[in-house]
Amino acid sequence: MKTLVIGANGQIGRQFCELAKAAGMPVRAMIRNSNQQRWFQERSIETVIADLEGSLRHAFYGCDQVVFAAGSGPHTGPDKTLMIDLNGAARAVDLASELGLSRFVMVSAIRAEEPLAAPDKMRPYMAAKNAADAHLRTARVPHVILKPGRLTDDQASQRVATSLKEAGDNQVSRANVAHVLLHLIQNRQLVNREFTLLDGERTIADAIA
Ligand code: NAP
Repeated sequence: MKTLVIGANGQIGRQFCELAKAAGMPVRAMIRNSNQQRWFQERSIETVIADLEGSLRHAFYGCDQVVFAAGSGPHTGPDKTLMIDLNGAARAVDLASELGLSRFVMVSAIRAEEPLAAPDKMRPYMAAKNAADAHLRTARVPHVILKPGRLTDDQASQRVATSLKEAGDNQVSRANVAHVLLHLIQNRQLVNREFTLLDGERTIADAIA
C-alpha cells in the first residue's frame, strides 16, 4: 500500500511526505537527482530517482497509488509546461493505468478547465493542466483531481473550502494542500472525484467527504 509521490522534492511534496511518514503511511519520494536524497534520508523516507522527461517506469514498481504534485514551475517556458505538466503527467497516468495501480491523485489547478479565462501568460499552463486532467478522467486508473487556488506559504489551518463562493478568496496554503493529500491517501474509498481547494472554515474530513 505504498504511495509514489511525484514532485516529492517540491514545496507541497516535501510537506506531504513528512505528514505521510508521521501518519505511518508508506511513501516513495520520486526525486530527480541524488543531491536531493539527503533531506528524505534524514527522515527515513524512501526515495527513487526518476524524471517525468526521462526514465520513469521503474519508480512505479511496488506502489499502488500516486500523488502527482510535480510541475514545471513559474520560471520555465511553455516548452517545459508541455513536457512536464502535460506530457509528463500523461506518461505517469498511462503507467499507473498499465501497471494496475488503484488510484491516481492529481494536484491540478483551480479553473484549469477554462484556460481561455486565465491571464495570457497562464493560458499554456492551464491548457496543459486541463489536458492532463482530461486524460486522467478517461484513464483506467481511478482518480481524484484536486484543484487548489493560488498557493501560499501560510501555516496549515486544516480548515478548507471547496468553492470560491464558500471561501471568498482564491488562495490555499501548500500546508493545507498537503493535509488534504494525506486525508485522501488515508481514505481509499474516495475515487473518481474532483475538488476545488481553498482555505476555508470546514474541517478537511467534512469538506472532502
Ligand atoms: P514546486 O515547489 O515547484 O514543486 C514542483 C516539483 O516538481 C519539484 O520538486 C520539481 O523537482 C518537480 N519536477 C519538475 N520537473 C520534473 C520532472 N521533469 N520530473 C520529476 N519531477 C519534476 O511546486 P509546489 O509549490 O509544491 O506546487 C505543486 C504544484 O501545484 C505546481 O507544480 C502546480 O502544478 C500546482 N499548482 C500551483 C499553483 C500556484 O499558485 N503556484 C496553484 C494551483 C496548482 P525539483 O525539486 O527537482 O525541481
